[in-house]
Amino acid sequence: MCENCDTTMASRRSVLKMAMLGAAATAIPSLMVAAPTMAEEAGADVTPDEALKKLREGNALFVADAEQCAVNLTTRRAEVALGQHPYAVILTCSDSRVTPELIFGGVSLGELFVARNAGNIVDTDVLGTLEYGTEHLHAPLIVVMGHEKCGAVGAAVDQVVNGTQYEGSIGKMIQPILPVALGIGADDPDLGDKTIRANAAKGVELILQDSPIIATLVEEGKVKVIAAYYNFQTGAVEFSDAA
Ligand SMILES: [Zn+2]
Repeated sequence: MCENCDTTMASRRSVLKMAMLGAAATAIPSLMVAAPTMAEEAGADVTPDEALKKLREGNALFVADAEQCAVNLTTRRAEVALGQHPYAVILTCSDSRVTPELIFGGVSLGELFVARNAGNIVDTDVLGTLEYGTEHLHAPLIVVMGHEKCGAVGAAVDQVVNGTQYEGSIGKMIQPILPVALGIGADDPDLGDKTIRANAAKGVELILQDSPIIATLVEEGKVKVIAAYYNFQTGAVEFSDAA
C-alpha cells in the first residue's frame, strides 16, 4: 500500500471499512505486500494456473474494495525500466470502464501485457501482440475478456436484428462479430449478452487456430488460453476455466 493511498484511505474511510480491508489483506497477502521483487516477477516461473489464481484473487479484492491503489509505483517504475516479465496477457475491449490493471486488483506496472480494441477482436495485430507476450515475454496465461453491455458487440447485434448499417471503419470492424450473433439467432431475447460471451469464446478458438506458436505453447502446457466476462455492476470477472 503506498503512502498516498494509506493517508487518503485513513481520512475517508470508517474504521469498519479499514477492518474489512485488513481482512481482505489477510486472505490475499500476495496482493497487499510491497512491490514484488525481481525474483517474484519472473513470468517464466509462474504456471498458467498460478497466473489465473493471481487474477482471481486480484479481482476478488477489487470487488471487495475497489478504491485500493497500486503499490509503490515509483519503486516499481524503476524496477520494470530494466525489463518486463508479465504473468498474464489480457485481450479485452477498449471500453473506458474495462481497465485490466484496476479490475484485477490494482495490478502494478510490469504485470499484465494488454491488447485492447473495441469488441476484443482477434486480428493479425492482436495475434502478434499475444505471441509476443507469451513466446518472448513468457507470460503463461492469455485471457480474452468480454464485458457487459459491450458497444461493439451491440452494434453487431443491431445490424443482425435491425439491419442497421454502420458507416466507416466501424462497419468493417464489427464484421467478425456478425457470425457469432447469427449463430445464436436474431430472435434470441438475450442475444446481446450471449454474443458478448460467445465472442470471447470465439476469440480463444481463433487464437489457438490461427497462431501455431501459441497452440504449441498450449500443447506443451506452458500457456493457457481462457475466456472471461466482466460485470460492470459487481466488478466481478467470470472465467471460463474452473481452475
Ligand atoms: Zn466493449
